[in-house]
Amino acid sequence: MSSSDNIVVLASGNRGKLLELNNLLNGLGIELRSQADFDVVEAAETGLSFIENAILKARNAARQTGHAALADDSGLCVDALGGAPGIYSARYAGANAQDADNNAKLINALQSETNRHAHFHCALAFVRHADDPAPIVSEGLWQGEILHAPRGTNGFGYDPLFHIANLGLCSAELSKEQKNQLSHRALALAQLLPRLESEYLGS
Ligand code: IMP
Repeated sequence: MSSSDNIVVLASGNRGKLLELNNLLNGLGIELRSQADFDVVEAAETGLSFIENAILKARNAARQTGHAALADDSGLCVDALGGAPGIYSARYAGANAQDADNNAKLINALQSETNRHAHFHCALAFVRHADDPAPIVSEGLWQGEILHAPRGTNGFGYDPLFHIANLGLCSAELSKEQKNQLSHRALALAQLLPRLESEYLGS
């Protein structure tokens, strides 16, 4: 390990993500801490892609804490909309948009559209230190179709509109456990973990 301790800072204030990731990283002997514990001032997400923003966030957390850092950036990409809302998924319907506002805007945007294909995208970036020239990155894609009306009550964000054809269910109809096995985040993480083991812990 290149750092003098086993602390990795998660560049997110989301407690749910911290818990989920901590469970997985604990097994590797890594102690994941929220950037909120270090009063990190959040990075401006000025990138044009998920991966650029994930790297910006990870470098920002590493710079302000002096620890290695992990960041994720995710969103929904709709084919018929040229990949929108993409990196702007959280604020698709405006700066203070709620999930219901974003979903209503998406339904509207696709009203007369027959191509309903979309994917959830997650980028993860790990930096050993703020100026790490070789961040460890991974991406996960979860394919589906956008429904004409919301279904289900689980999850968050666009889950009620994201239909998985081979299951005949939308994401908001999956249990937390099911979603955690299939999602873009799960896929990205499954790729990152062995690389953290070999390229960080093993170094
Ligand atoms: P964040 O990267 O967790 O901040 O997610 C950005 C935005 O993308 C969220 O606010 C949601 O609108 C959307 N999003 C990302 N992942 C999911 C998901 O698993 N389900 C539903 N919406 C998601």
